[in-house]
Amino acid sequence: MTEAKVTGKTRIICALTATSAAEMRLAMFAAADAGADAVELRLDYLQIPPGRQEIADLLAGAPVETIVTCRPTAEGGKFTGPESDRLAILANAVRLGATWVDVEAAVTPHYRPASSGRVILSRHDFKRCPPDLDDIMARLDGSEAAVNKIAFAAAGPQDALRAFDVLRKCHKPTLALAMGQAGLISRILAAKFGAFGTFAALAAGKESAPGQPTIAELVDLYRVKALTPATAVYGVIGCPVAHSMSPAIHNAAFAAAGMDACYVPLLIEPGEHDFRRFMDALLERPWMDWRGLSVTIPHKEHALSYVGAGNCDALAVKIGAVNTITIAPDGSLAGDNTDYAGALDALCAGMSITREGLADRRVAVLGAGGVARAIVAALAHYGCEVTVYNRTLQRGQRLAEEFGAASAGLDSLARLDAEIVINCTSVGMHPDVDSSPLEKIPPCVQAVFDTIYNPVETRLIRQARAAGCAAITGLEMFVNQAVAQFERWTAKPAPRDVMREVVARRLGASNSSR
Ligand code: NAP
Repeated sequence: MTEAKVTGKTRIICALTATSAAEMRLAMFAAADAGADAVELRLDYLQIPPGRQEIADLLAGAPVETIVTCRPTAEGGKFTGPESDRLAILANAVRLGATWVDVEAAVTPHYRPASSGRVILSRHDFKRCPPDLDDIMARLDGSEAAVNKIAFAAAGPQDALRAFDVLRKCHKPTLALAMGQAGLISRILAAKFGAFGTFAALAAGKESAPGQPTIAELVDLYRVKALTPATAVYGVIGCPVAHSMSPAIHNAAFAAAGMDACYVPLLIEPGEHDFRRFMDALLERPWMDWRGLSVTIPHKEHALSYVGAGNCDALAVKIGAVNTITIAPDGSLAGDNTDYAGALDALCAGMSITREGLADRRVAVLGAGGVARAIVAALAHYGCEVTVYNRTLQRGQRLAEEFGAASAGLDSLARLDAEIVINCTSVGMHPDVDSSPLEKIPPCVQAVFDTIYNPVETRLIRQARAAGCAAITGLEMFVNQAVAQFERWTAKPAPRDVMREVVARRLGASNSSR
């Protein structure tokens, strides 16, 4: 049989979990077509344990490198048969031309396949990052096997940083993976640290371990095939963070600008302690080349406190929230708030005025939450006469008083007297798409800005267009804040059209809603 060529680059390894040999073989070719450099044949998933002939048929003419694994239940796999049968399957796989076999470190050396040059010696911890990680890796690294593998559950992204420590320290080709959503960066950035490989699923729902991305995500979204040791790293901190559009926007922007940079999601649990623990761990590792962070709910206040008011934009300090951290090569931090900047720029562009042109304008801000706070602070700074209308009167009053604005209840909206209306409530947001915070738009109103971006064309925006007002959507604000982040981090003009296109496509909005 022909053996696939062994390559030295970081492989995208597609883990195949089909339950029949025929399906697994089909999936192997599909994975190669999708861009995988290797496949892991999880023989423990097969309903009928494979004999010699089945293994030979499965491996025959493999289009990419093959890793044969037959994980027992004790190590998180599905194989329930006798250990001697399992070891026979692995030994057969080596004889029949598997490029690699994965053998658990718990198997005593005497029982491991003789061809150690093809053995990946593996350790798994599905509960935590092992406290004795360095000792474990020293033992694996000193073994006769050709490749080390460690996979452990991540309690937070700081555990994924431990995986990079391992990659930097080991002398042999190594796989080091932090499992779970919090460990995702260990899978995305493996190539930056010269890992032997990183695992991916053929499609969502086909993962063989928690937190595995798909091949398409690794290749198209995170561009892992283009990563180099010098890749600059950026990311978004949030909880939840899985559905954030920021990785798609920023990675597309880096690609369009021809930059060696990658933007990743970082799931950090809500407490300030968790935020600080990650930031400390990150800054201890200057070799990560981490240059910037977007920060979203619930960590914007924590970001301000961590970076320190003295290192933050004055208006961000007034707002009490930092959504952008810039990390200089010497590790010093700067904090900004591009939410307010993105909103102001959207408003001014929609009205064809400068920020200074906002002075003395009468603005009605509907809502008193986080977004309203950023916008009210910015409008007050540029000299607007602001009235905050909020469902919960007290909350609206508190916000208004802090920034020298007036306040009123939603029932006062019937007597609205303003040139600009900005909706910062969630009224009209999916699935409540038939609602609008205003029954009708009074003639005094010249511009309506709805911060909601899902949907882009809210009922309020349609009302504004019908009334002949300038209509500014939340999509513009969203794109602007990402553009401002890109420019703050890179000091280069952002590829705005590319970024806008990504957001519009994700939201299913047409570009004609400009
Ligand atoms: P938040 O802190 O939870 O505040 C929500 C606000 O909406 C509060 O003032 C709340 O009033 C009000 N509200 C909620 N349900 C209401 C209802 N049924 N009737 C009247 N008022 C209601 O949320 P946020 O983070 O500020 O987000 C607010 C809006 O901004 C969201 O619609 C979101 O889509 C949008 N947003 C846009 C962007 C962008 O880039 N375009 C980014 C983030 C958020 P109470 O005080 O009475 O509860």
